[in-house]
Amino acid sequence: MKILIDTGHGENTPGKRSPDGKFREYLYVREIADQVVAQLRQRGYDAERIVMEFSDVALAERARRVNEVCGRLGTKNVILVSIHCNAAGNGEWMNAKGWSCYTSIGQTKADKLADCFYQVAEEQFAGRKFRKDLTDGDPDWEAGFYMLKKTKCPAVLTENFFMDNKDDVAYLVSPEGRNAVVATHVEAIIKYIQSNE
Ligand SMILES: [Zn+2]
Repeated sequence: MKILIDTGHGENTPGKRSPDGKFREYLYVREIADQVVAQLRQRGYDAERIVMEFSDVALAERARRVNEVCGRLGTKNVILVSIHCNAAGNGEWMNAKGWSCYTSIGQTKADKLADCFYQVAEEQFAGRKFRKDLTDGDPDWEAGFYMLKKTKCPAVLTENFFMDNKDDVAYLVSPEGRNAVVATHVEAIIKYIQSNE
C-alpha cells in the first residue's frame, strides 16, 4: 500500500492563518506531514508527500500526481490523506472549534478510512471537541472537495481543529497537541491498512 500525504495551500495562499498571523496552515501541515511520513516509514510503511513545494500547488496538479501513482500501482494499492486546519471566520477569532474528517459523497472505501480516523482521534484527542455528521450513519462529513472527488483512490481530508479559535491554536502548537495530530494520522492509516489485510 502506498500512502500519499497531501498538504493544503502554500506560503503565497491568502488567509489560511490565525488572526494574529502566528499560525500558518501551510507550514503547520507540512511539519505534521513530515513527521507522519517519517513515523510510517519507521514502522515499515511506504509513505510520501505529494507536495514538496512551499508555494501553493494547484489542486488539479496535486490530483494529477495522486492519479499518476494510482495508474502505476493500481487504485486499490493507494490511499490519500489531505491534512488541513479548519477556519470559521474571515480573520477574526471565532468560537467554532474541534476536529473533523471528510470524505467524498457516497459510501466508498474512504468511509472505512474515515471511521479509522475517528476511532483513533477519539483516543488521541480525548476530552476535546469532535465535529461529526451522523445523518448518514457514520461520523465523517461528506463534501465535494476537489482532492476527494478527483482522485481515484480512497481519500480523506482531515480538518485538524480551528486556526481561528484561540484554544484550538494553543492546543495545535503545544507539544501534546502536535504529537496527538501526528499520532492520529499514523495510527489511523495503519489501522485501515491492517483491517484490509
Ligand atoms: Zn486548508
